[in-house]
Amino acid sequence: MYIFKSQNLLEFSYRFKVDEDCKEYIALLKAKIPFKYTRCNHRDCQTRTDFSRQCNICIYTESATVETLFRKVKYGVRKAFFICFEMSTPQKAYQQVI
Ligand SMILES: [Zn+2]
Repeated sequence: MYIFKSQNLLEFSYRFKVDEDCKEYIALLKAKIPFKYTRCNHRDCQTRTDFSRQCNICIYTESATVETLFRKVKYGVRKAFFICFEMSTPQKAYQQVI
């Protein structure tokens, strides 16, 4: 998650205000990888407004978080993003914010 580099907590919280911001970010990263559905192995899809992908052939819909660390998180993707940010940020970065 290169975007997290050199960001402080305020910048990070501004970038990811809601769960949809996080899903959009995940979808952008996944768009760079050749796509294939895990269930049907089809490759053609449409991206929906919630950043999930729908297969053009069998209309199976896959969440943006499928095959990521954030799949099935119980407390929301944004909170999971913040946990990752805290774990990947050196303590020194927090001292700059305070
Ligand atoms: Zn399909």
